[in-house]
Amino acid sequence: MTKKTKSNTSKEELENLLPGYNCGICGYARCEEFAGALLKKHTTLDKCSFLYQELFKENLEQMRNVLKSENIILEEKPVIGLLDGYEADFILKPLPKESSCREILYPFTREKLKKEDIIRYRPLGCPITHFGKIIDEEHGLITVHMVGPCHRLSDDSEEFQFKEIGLCMVGGFEGIIEGQLPNVGETVRFLPKHCMMQKVHSGVVVQLEGKKALIEGIDLKVWAPPIKREK
Ligand code: SF4
Repeated sequence: MTKKTKSNTSKEELENLLPGYNCGICGYARCEEFAGALLKKHTTLDKCSFLYQELFKENLEQMRNVLKSENIILEEKPVIGLLDGYEADFILKPLPKESSCREILYPFTREKLKKEDIIRYRPLGCPITHFGKIIDEEHGLITVHMVGPCHRLSDDSEEFQFKEIGLCMVGGFEGIIEGQLPNVGETVRFLPKHCMMQKVHSGVVVQLEGKKALIEGIDLKVWAPPIKREK
């Protein structure tokens, strides 16, 4: 009888944890082949999008552990905010083909704002002036992409004209989670990839579609002891 190697056992474990749909979306005709390719580092877990659904959340975690034990994926480093040294649960990256996470704002201005406007504002609780391009406007709420400040502050050409709207309340963030997936309804600490201060934000996950998350109830005050940093 042939003795089972650790890799054989890991392959079986991975196969048992995969959805078993054999749909080919990952680029392999069968889940079994995908499991083998993972162990050979020919592919990555995110190619099977089903694994990011709520149903397979625990399987994904167990698959990560199998791949860590095989040194295929390394232990994740903690995500630490640079400014205050708080640990975040994950990084929030822009949606595919977008330049920054989407920020949903409650502007206090009475000025009429519309799609495509460039605005200058300061989020409540943040010392940094932001520049955003409005990509959506609904019932007084606006959704923006970050487009500054760096190059905008030094350029007053026509192209860089903006509306000054002062203080804004940040209501939500939408983006792609890099790291451990939370549950809907969970209060999380996260680092928006575009945050110029690299400051950890907190909020509540109100929608989760695979790795795409909508987080609301944003707060820049994070109540947790900072991680001790080496001097
Ligand atoms: S995408 Fe997932 S479910 Fe479909 S074949 Fe690949 S591993 Fe199996």
